[in-house]
Amino acid sequence: MKALSVVGTRPEVVMAFPVSRAVRAAHEGVLVHTGQHYDEELSAVFFEELGIADPEYPLDAANDDSPLRMGSLLADLRDVVDREEPDALLVYGDTDSALAGAVAGAGRELAVVHVEAGLRSGDPSMPEERNRVLIDHLSDACLAPTTEAVRTLAEEDVTAHVSLVGDTVRDSLAWTRTTAARRSTALDDFGLEEGEFVLATVHRAGNTDDRSRLEAIVDGLAASPKPVVFPAHPRTVRRLDEFDLLAAARAELRVVDPVGYLDFVHLLDAADRVATDSGGVQQEAFYLGTPCVTMRDRTEWTGTVERGANVLVGADEAAIREALSTEWHSGTADGATGDVSVADRIVEAVEALVDDRA
Ligand code: UDP
Repeated sequence: MKALSVVGTRPEVVMAFPVSRAVRAAHEGVLVHTGQHYDEELSAVFFEELGIADPEYPLDAANDDSPLRMGSLLADLRDVVDREEPDALLVYGDTDSALAGAVAGAGRELAVVHVEAGLRSGDPSMPEERNRVLIDHLSDACLAPTTEAVRTLAEEDVTAHVSLVGDTVRDSLAWTRTTAARRSTALDDFGLEEGEFVLATVHRAGNTDDRSRLEAIVDGLAASPKPVVFPAHPRTVRRLDEFDLLAAARAELRVVDPVGYLDFVHLLDAADRVATDSGGVQQEAFYLGTPCVTMRDRTEWTGTVERGANVLVGADEAAIREALSTEWHSGTADGATGDVSVADRIVEAVEALVDDRA
């Protein structure tokens, strides 16, 4: 079997890494990086740290939010598919790269597989939410991380084959957590004590492109009783600067460049809590048992909120302050994944699908 994986951003690399490894152990794997985020800080470092071979196809999708990006991505991906003729095309999560991959593969002689299928935040104004729905409905197989995601797919009558495989990020973390604890010097580098700081990330356009939301977030974080380390996404730094908020942010928070994946996981593991608008960070915090304060109005990881591990505070200064100041006991992930890894289950599901179609 030949399986082609499409990734384009750091969360996709984190999801694809255990799957790519499991595919290559038994089959032919081909990796395409669309270049949606392919600068050193946001992506290349992930390949290095996770020991992933360089992508066979490093494309260079424009690193901007223009709708034209979709057109060029699609054309490039169709060329790759024509050339490689894979049996399966795997896409991960909810980015434009994942959507372009699904569109490029749909209706062809191959199985389109969506890993991390069936998640919904219920907020159609988020581009990621539109991508999730479209990808699920374009795919031949939807591999779901949670039972709730399976239910959602059934409710939406997706025609794809649906199976519950678990969350690949959990597989990734099993390796990364111990490796990070051994190799990362981030706590010392930033002069931090375990449990005595808050980790923050903000990069969603809905927060960064709206001055009042961004200001409320900075003010809410600034009210934290514990120091806040803020590895800031380049988009966020640009907006803080444009909105004249950068000096205030630097005065109140420890604004640093984005950190590598091992350092990030180590900081997340050691933080008293994390304040974020990222999807991937909510997931990782849940598995690491770090309480998560989510600066969004909705989340696609609803189970983490139901279990008390995650609290939604929007971009509300008072709610952020309260969530950072009050003691609350975080719920934890349920049970172990068992002895079969999520990545192995994914490979089995793809093999079965490809066999069925042969
Ligand atoms: N991350 C990282 N360094 C940072 C910030 C985040 O390695 O400075 C990792 C984080 O652990 C997670 C991923 O980047 O695996 C999340 O990426 P992002 O927040 O850009 O995307 P989202 O999950 O919101 O789509």
